[in-house]
Order: sequence, then C-alpha cells, then structure tokens
Amino acid sequence: MRLSRYFLPVLKETPAEAQIVSHQLMLRAGMVQQLAAGIYSWLPLGYAVLRKVEAIVHQEMQRAGAIPILMPTIQPADLWIESGRYNDYGKEMLRIRDRHDRSMLYGPTNEENVTDIFRRHVRSFKQLPLNLYHIQWKFRDEVRPRFGVMRGREFLMKDAYSFDLDAAGAEASYDAMFLAYLRTFRRMGLTAIPMQADTGPIGGNLSHEFQILARTGESEVHFDAAFEAIDFSADDLSVTELKALYAAADDKHDPAACPVPAERLRSGRGIEVGHIFYFGTKYSEPMGATVIGPDGATQPVHMGSYGIGVSRLVGALIEANHDDKGIIWPEAVAPFKVGIVDLRPDDALSHGLAEELHERLQRAGVDVLLDERDERAGAKFATMELIGLPWTVTVGPRGAKEGKVELKARASGETVELDPDALVQRLTA
Ligand code: ATP
Ligand code: MG
Repeated sequence: MRLSRYFLPVLKETPAEAQIVSHQLMLRAGMVQQLAAGIYSWLPLGYAVLRKVEAIVHQEMQRAGAIPILMPTIQPADLWIESGRYNDYGKEMLRIRDRHDRSMLYGPTNEENVTDIFRRHVRSFKQLPLNLYHIQWKFRDEVRPRFGVMRGREFLMKDAYSFDLDAAGAEASYDAMFLAYLRTFRRMGLTAIPMQADTGPIGGNLSHEFQILARTGESEVHFDAAFEAIDFSADDLSVTELKALYAAADDKHDPAACPVPAERLRSGRGIEVGHIFYFGTKYSEPMGATVIGPDGATQPVHMGSYGIGVSRLVGALIEANHDDKGIIWPEAVAPFKVGIVDLRPDDALSHGLAEELHERLQRAGVDVLLDERDERAGAKFATMELIGLPWTVTVGPRGAKEGKVELKARASGETVELDPDALVQRLTA
C-alpha cells in the first residue's frame, strides 16, 4: 500500500475529549472517528486491526468446536417478552418501532435469538453438544459511553452459545471456551486473568470475566500472585487448576472471606475483554428449547454464553502496548507488518530501491505500507512511530548507493543494516 494513495487522517494534536491513552492514540493515528456519542466509524487503519482481531477470534472459536453463524442486529421484542427479559433490560436497550408499529430492538446480546434457532431445529440429545457463535454489532445505550471504543454504545462482540443435555456436559463446554479464551488473548500478546464474576442481567450460576491488567482499567481486581508464574501459552494449561486459583473482580471480592494470604494477594485495575456464563435452563425453559434425552423424556437444554469484546480489544491492545511516541502493535494484530520510509522520493536510485522492496514484500504476501510522500524525514518517522508498525525499513540515498537499507524494530528500537535480499528474507521468514 502506498501512503500517498491510502487514507490515514493522522492528527497532530491530542484531541481534548480523549481521556485515556488508547483513545488518544486511536484518534491521532486516524483509526476511528466518532459519529455520535459511543458510535464510531472505523477508518482504514483501525478497520485493518479490527479484522485481524476478528480473524484470531474466529480461528480459536472454530478450533474449540464452535460453529460460525450470523444473527441479525435487529430483533423482535416478542422473543424478549417470552424469555422475560424485555422489561428487565431497562434503558440500555434501544427500542424501535417499525412501520407496522411492531416493537423491535437493536440487540444488546443474542441469547433469545439463538435459543429460537435451536428450538426450531434440534430435537434429540444426539445432536448435542452444540456451540453456535457469531461476531456481530451490538447496541447498549450505556449511561456513560467513554474511553472511545472501550465503552461504546455500538460495539462489536463475539458471542458464542453452548447447548448441552445436562449440567456436566455444559461444564465441559464452558471449560472448552475457558481455554479457547486464554489461547485467543495469548495469540494477541495479552495475558487475561480469568476472574470469578457476578452473572449480572444475563443471570445464572457460574461466570468468569477475563481481565487484562492496565492502569486505566474500569474495575478493581484482586488475584493470587500465583497467576504471575503461569505460562498462558503452554499447551497443557489446566482449567481445573486455573479455576481453583483465587481471582475476583471487585463486585465478587470479599476481603474478609478471601482465601489468599495478604502477601500473596495482588490488586490492580482490569479491562474486561471477555465474559463467560453458564446459566442452565434460564432461557431454554421459558422458551421451550428442549430435547429428548436418552431415557425418552423431554427436557430443557443447559446453556452457556461466551462474549469477547472484539472492538474493545483494539483499545485494550493499545493500553497494553504503547510508549510516548505511539502505538506498538504486536505482530499478530498489526495493520501492516512493515512500513517503508522512502527518505528521498526525488532521488532516482533510493526511490527505485524503496519501490522495489515494496513490490517484493507485497508479492511475498507481507502487509507493507510505503511512505513515498513528499514530506520531511522527521514527519515520516513520527508517523511510523505513531501508527506502531512492528518493523520500519528506511531507504535513503547513502545506503542505496551501497545497496543497504536499515531495519528497525518498533518494540525494542533495535536497528540493523541489511542488503535488500537479506531484508526480504528476514521479513518473510
Ligand atoms: P461491562 O461489565 O464492561 O459493562 P458486560 O458484562 O456488560 O461488560 P458482557 O455482556 O459480558 O459485558 O459482554 C461481553 C463482552 O463485550 C465484555 O466482556 C466486553 O469485553 C464487551 N463489552 C461489553 N460492553 C461493551 C461496551 N459498551 N463497549 C465495548 N465493549 C463492550
Ligand atoms: Mg461483565
């Protein structure tokens, strides 16, 4: 991609309305733009990251056996009246009337919708277990939308729903999602600690929130220092062991009843990036989502639901990865892997080399952004640092004469001089 042909509306000043660093950087780097309170347009750079996050979530969900579907954003109120939640949900729900004066709503979540799909098609326990998920926009009319995409009103969520014959089956489904979540966040370079949580308006009896530690987190969290020693990328993580370790968000933390000795208790601020629930037959019973069991008796299925804040993660990733110059993307979610700074577009040899590298990297399937604008070198480097691409290649007249370019890692700041072949090899390895 050529920067001169791209759409990257970076801002020089930090917008006054942004209170936290991720929101400031997302605006400065031209990733999103606010359309109304808590409602954002995703501009090319932000959208590229959002898609990378989505892709990882899709892969890990499917690896764990969940099946992708796509449910609508608009739902009829009738379904929510059936489940009993229409009145409970209150002002967070955006209620709409269509031209026939039917009550509709913009979905804040999809338990009713998916339970309706299930009850129309599944009859026997032999069709279980089943886990259906989608990645879809939600709307919640939050009292205080803030922190940019971290607490929006319209936001992108992955929500999965499991169906099992009994509580034991449902717990196995829950545990599979629990592990899939740790893998998902780990692949993005994040350590999310699973915390026992309240079940809130979703209701139910078993729930964990996945929290990333960050100074700007919205909730106070408390956890056993033993979490700090866990290798979350290990293949043999044990759900049983992890569930046994103490970790709780403020709403569930009771200092008097906390089993962890004071010197081993850690407290901090957390950003909730995922939340999983087991809620038994809360929806299946009122909505008649039943199967015929092995004994021939009809029974309501046991369900769980599993959310990941896909758009919130983009902000959370920046909270966890930045310095005073800008964003530092982990490679797995970077909008481009490499930026090429063409220092002197007016110098035939140097410019030719920058173009050639851009072409070769693109052909090798590397996401690369070439800055061949007629701008000062300082401005070009500042842009690259702000938008946080993992690698920057600098091509200038002096190096070009000797057939050398400079490769710099955004995270460590380390630089090496390489010839073009070695560079391409390094970036495609
Ligand atoms: P919170 O406690 O932050 O309000 P929640 O418990 O209401 O979240 P869930 O219903 O569990 O949220 O939704 C699943 C995930 O969706 C959350 O873990 C979070 O990452 C994300 N999410 C929830 N509300 C918002 C929002 N207003 N903006 C962006 N992401 C959100
Ligand atoms: Mg929550």
